[in-house]
Amino acid sequence: RPSRLAAAVCTALLAGNTLAADALVRRADALIARMTLDEKIGQLTQLGADAPGPDKEAADTLIRAGKAGSVLWTINSDAIARMQRVAVKESRLGIPLLFGFDVIHGYKNVFPVPLGLAATWDTALVERVQAIAAKESRVAGINWTFSPMVDIARDARWGRIVEGAGEDTFLGVAMARAQVRGFQGPALGTPERVLTSVKHFAAYGAADGGRDYDSVYVPEVQLRNVYFPPFQAAIDAGAGTVMAAYMTLNDVPASGNRWLLRDVLRGEMGFKGFVVSDAWSVHSLVNHGFAADKADAALRGLQAGVSMDMGSNTYLTQLPALVKQGKLPLRVVDDAVREVLLVKLRMGLFEQPYGAPERKDAVFNDPAHRAATREAAQRSIVLLRNEGRALPLASTLRRIAVIGPLGDSTEDIKGSWTVEGGAAVSVLEGIKARWPQAEVSFARGGDMQRAYALPWDADQGKPAPTLMPAAEQQAELLKAVDTARQAEAVVMVLGERANMSGEAASVASLALQGNQQALLEAVVATGKPVVLVLLNGRPLDIRWASEHVHAIVEAWFPGTEGGHAVADVLSGAINPGGKLPVTWPRSTGHVPVYYNHNRTHADETSRTFTSRYASDATSSPLYPFGHGLSYTSFSYEGLTLDRRTARVGEPIRVSVTVRNTGAVAGDEVVQLYTHQRAGSTARPQRELKGFQRIHLAPGAAQTVTFTLGREELKFWSPITRAWGVEAASFDVWVGGSSLATAHAEFKLTR
Ligand code: BGC
Repeated sequence: RPSRLAAAVCTALLAGNTLAADALVRRADALIARMTLDEKIGQLTQLGADAPGPDKEAADTLIRAGKAGSVLWTINSDAIARMQRVAVKESRLGIPLLFGFDVIHGYKNVFPVPLGLAATWDTALVERVQAIAAKESRVAGINWTFSPMVDIARDARWGRIVEGAGEDTFLGVAMARAQVRGFQGPALGTPERVLTSVKHFAAYGAADGGRDYDSVYVPEVQLRNVYFPPFQAAIDAGAGTVMAAYMTLNDVPASGNRWLLRDVLRGEMGFKGFVVSDAWSVHSLVNHGFAADKADAALRGLQAGVSMDMGSNTYLTQLPALVKQGKLPLRVVDDAVREVLLVKLRMGLFEQPYGAPERKDAVFNDPAHRAATREAAQRSIVLLRNEGRALPLASTLRRIAVIGPLGDSTEDIKGSWTVEGGAAVSVLEGIKARWPQAEVSFARGGDMQRAYALPWDADQGKPAPTLMPAAEQQAELLKAVDTARQAEAVVMVLGERANMSGEAASVASLALQGNQQALLEAVVATGKPVVLVLLNGRPLDIRWASEHVHAIVEAWFPGTEGGHAVADVLSGAINPGGKLPVTWPRSTGHVPVYYNHNRTHADETSRTFTSRYASDATSSPLYPFGHGLSYTSFSYEGLTLDRRTARVGEPIRVSVTVRNTGAVAGDEVVQLYTHQRAGSTARPQRELKGFQRIHLAPGAAQTVTFTLGREELKFWSPITRAWGVEAASFDVWVGGSSLATAHAEFKLTR
């Protein structure tokens, strides 16, 4: 119970905050009172790279006239500094610009892709690395990141699964919170941090068929229970902006969706920042067949609650006439401008508009940043399979072959959305450094590429030129087989090129692309011990490998220090402890797949009336959500609850003792799952409701305690149309994956 003094201090602080907030509102309103209509609309405009280009004279002219509030995709520090000077020194009101870019997993020092960061299950680490990313961006002048992407993704065909925390809402909530804290700090305005934009509101990850940008049909019960909570967590952590999604949600484009952006986001969720559209998504209200023309798009975008138009200049060109014609009340414009100005004021942007390019070298080369990239990469790696203790590889190896089109990659290994980053350490280099005594040979074995160029590439949409004719591929494959034959051990590095995952990188097949499958089979046929290292942004179809390759290491796109981190794990210098943030499908036909689905009508003994495919022996995943092996083993003992019955609202404490029963130190991600047995609706068969990554020396044990309170047990019921905890019986499981077996039960009563 807080003391009276503490309560008084809290009240004073709150009052102080309110006063400070009031003062900012007064400052914003004073500015608004002085602004012309064009200047107001300028604050609602983010200039796009080619409409007109911020590196061109046209941009400076617009900025000088107060017709821009932000600039998109400019990462050149000199250009940023120049434009900011124009805004601050040469525009009438001197309002500083926001420079927005997708810094999603590092700037100069590149960390694992967000899906890899989620695989660490280490929120403190994730917060720390995003703070580093923020610091590096800020010195370069970028003060706004379009991150974190908190879209839940249950379909690995969707290319952007790589940018989020995977399929689970509870893990997604934890990662959303950690990332916002990392990027922004404890509050907007924390020095050396950046403004965040949590995206893409909402349910963008549920695209039909996993096709990026496609329609989304998600019922309200799932929006509320599955897709919204990570946004709520990001907002509660202080996210200053939210990005509206591209696609239609239940037939209404997210960027013109008043229910979503006003009723839910600002109303129910209490969001106080501003909403930015996705790139050109105000304009695309026309493409969706929703708005009649550009003017209609501008009108409905703003009215729905998109405060800033990213890139399309639709607000800039359309809003003035709409106001003048009396079709759009000036108040709606003023409200949006106030939101934008308040974020800039709260960030302290008026006081600190510039980056610190003179400090770039020092910050970029901070050894602590480099060290964090290696640590994050090590912790993100998931050991999927290790039959017969194929790993770790002996330090005494003298001849190692690295094989595969990604083996020597210093670019693809970083993953998507990297710009400023220097070359990364390849797996080949990492292995050479780890086994200095060994002769390490390399063969690509063939090649692969995406089928068509990315939409923003010069030859956009065109089929990609054939990289390597079939005959040449075959010759490369044979060379690789030869290379394998000369070696004592083979490390195959397969997966995806960076641009095969990410935006506009959806796939109809999760199979290994190019000749990789043939290469893998040919190399395994040599009989040499093979380790498969995957560099990829999504689960791939590795059924064959899961039966024929003894060791499989999921390294995601691990970033700048990726090659070292992989070698650290292969050698056993680091014992892997990452866990899957996604369910691993057996084949493409298994998606969408996720562990927290409902039970079916079959009872437990039924073999037929269950959800399974007649074509396959099993519909269980290849690897379950939360799975990841270690070079040691863990036991779970003495699962206890502090009480077996409680009243709704009273917390239940669950403890378990985890012991390292193997011979080496290691990390375990202790996971807790619950199931509500009956209620106003059916509830998922299991749901993650707690996790902790712990480190244990051989033989050591630790008791881990979780609390199941209102936050963990509540859900949104479409029957009561409210969030609540229901009086019911519950199962609890604790263990090292979603197949956890240590079980207990409890009951909540009214
Ligand atoms: C993506 C967003 C991104 C924006 C700006 C869009 O195409 O959907 O996630 O933040 O571009 O780069």
